[in-house]
Amino acid sequence: MANLQQRLPENVPGDFFVDSSCIDCDTCSQIAPNVFRDHGEQCSVHSQPQTEAETQLAMMALVACPTGSIGTTEKHDAHLGIDAFPSHLDENVYFCGFTSESSFGAWSYLIVRPQHEGGNILIDSPRFATQLVKRIEKLGGVNLMLLTHRDDVADHELFREKFGCERVMHADDGAARFGVERIVSGEAALEIDKDLLLIPTPGHTRGHVVYLYKNKFLFTGDHLAWSPARETLTAFRSVAWYSWPRQIESMEKLAQHDFEWVLPGHGSIHHDTKPNMRYHLASCIAWMKTR
Ligand code: SF4
Repeated sequence: MANLQQRLPENVPGDFFVDSSCIDCDTCSQIAPNVFRDHGEQCSVHSQPQTEAETQLAMMALVACPTGSIGTTEKHDAHLGIDAFPSHLDENVYFCGFTSESSFGAWSYLIVRPQHEGGNILIDSPRFATQLVKRIEKLGGVNLMLLTHRDDVADHELFREKFGCERVMHADDGAARFGVERIVSGEAALEIDKDLLLIPTPGHTRGHVVYLYKNKFLFTGDHLAWSPARETLTAFRSVAWYSWPRQIESMEKLAQHDFEWVLPGHGSIHHDTKPNMRYHLASCIAWMKTR
């Protein structure tokens, strides 16, 4: 629960506020950019919600915040935010919200499929919050859990315990240590389920992988994201823990694949046509080589 006594001075006056426990994960400013903004090393409210739609997005940000740093001075129905997750993106793909502090607020996603098509797939781990778990259960539970890399595993063990899902991860990111059932190795792309390709992308971490679903949805972990400021795809040199040159190579390898959606752990989501995504990925690679 956010603490009114620790309300950040950068918040505009009014109902919604962010307190000093904010870890600057940017989840709120991406879910509700009309209300929250990153003012430097933390986020705050730059404009109070003006419409019902803005209030709902602000409540979704409140629920998704990994540290409970968002509060209100007025009473709101929490279900306005809770019931919005998993939040539909396109076709059978959802954003889970409910981020976890242990993965620094990384975003996770749910693919909903009938059991006869293999059942649901969780990509990286959200917070194991009772309300979210119940909603995922209603959608059919989790059959498979795809982990992009070691930083975004959050509550993976609790999801495994609850749903008995098989977890997939690369050996080079400590998959054995995490107790993962299906450990992949090497650098070749691998079809791990129907319409689902695992593509190793060493760089951010040694065993980082991305997942391409239906040649349309690319779950990118911390490898690739959209930059609203530069209006193109981007990568994060300052957190290339393993190797920036290897991350550039991985990006070049990724350019062999088509996709329409970039769904990252950190940074912004983006949707565009396949040719435009190809263009943006080429720009990103050229830009990376100058860093
Ligand atoms: S979601 Fe929470 S922790 Fe993340 S930037 Fe917003 S207030 Fe801070």
